[in-house]
Amino acid sequence: MPTYSNEIIINLHMHTTYSDGSGSHADIAQAALRKGLDAVIVTDHNVHVAGPESYYKEGKKRVLLLVGEEVHNQARDPQKSHLLIFGADKSMSAYAKDPQLLIDAVRQAGGLSFLAHPFEHAAPSIGETAIDWVDWQVQGYNGLELWNGFGEIKSLIPTKIHALFYAFFPNLIAHAPYQEVLDKWDDLLQEDRRVFAIGGSDAHALKLSIGPLHRIVFPYDFHFSAINTHILANEPLSGELVRDRHLILDSLANGHSFIGYDLPAPTRGFRFTAQGKDRSVIMGDDMDSDGGVTLQIKLPEPADCRLLRNGKIIDSWTRHQVCTHITTEPGIYRVEVYRKYLGKSRGWIFSNPIFIR
Ligand SMILES: [Zn+2]
Ligand SMILES: [Zn+2]
Repeated sequence: MPTYSNEIIINLHMHTTYSDGSGSHADIAQAALRKGLDAVIVTDHNVHVAGPESYYKEGKKRVLLLVGEEVHNQARDPQKSHLLIFGADKSMSAYAKDPQLLIDAVRQAGGLSFLAHPFEHAAPSIGETAIDWVDWQVQGYNGLELWNGFGEIKSLIPTKIHALFYAFFPNLIAHAPYQEVLDKWDDLLQEDRRVFAIGGSDAHALKLSIGPLHRIVFPYDFHFSAINTHILANEPLSGELVRDRHLILDSLANGHSFIGYDLPAPTRGFRFTAQGKDRSVIMGDDMDSDGGVTLQIKLPEPADCRLLRNGKIIDSWTRHQVCTHITTEPGIYRVEVYRKYLGKSRGWIFSNPIFIR
């Protein structure tokens, strides 16, 4: 029986100088090595820069840098519907005009697609519109970016002064995924769509200049210690590019992962499992309700935990570390964990669902 005991921490969705980021692929690899990540997937806008895809090493540490793409229709005004693409091996931007054609083409190319920042706030103070997903009629995508690290700032900056404040205190930005995205995700799951959640940083390492002051704000290092996607796999990464790329993409496609906001405290070690009569499964998997199912949640340290069934909270625990819920009811079960950080209760862990049939 698979044990899924290998936890692989990856950071998704970032930009280099090939689009609107300020750093290179090598800068990203260095930052990822410093922060102890296992892998990153770079997603520049409408360009697939294949060359830098590789393992990067420093001493005994190594990190796998994979190349994806963030595609949108550049002629659309205002901008809407950005799509994150992993593992397609070539640019998909030629299909940008029609989101369904794009999603289908990505699948045909062997890639995965996730709706980027599906809900956003506009931030007129810095001239930013809400670049949300509007083409909800599409089918066949793999999931959505439930929590976007950079996008969340747009909800917090009614004035330029606020924007400047958060540029210097980025630890105060992240609160939780927007409730609108959580609700939409639950609705899609209720429609029997297997759509899985990922966390993205949307890192740009922006250059800010005010008079004589020059500074990189929201550097890659910051994002890489914040909203990560943690994969649970049957095997560890081997150090071999093709094999490890396959393992990571396969895990993301199957929802064998959770989103961890690692800044308040490391989320490594979180587990959400379902034990049935004769087998046990993890996030992303199906389980038969016959004979009862024990859902178990293990947290790296005590925190406030909610168990949801079909989008509704059915059990909750305050400052618990191991939470158990026994059920015979079919449904789609997922977990949200919150903890105190910098004076507020903030989202810490968001699991992918277990489907009890
Ligand atoms: Zn975007
Ligand atoms: Zn982006």
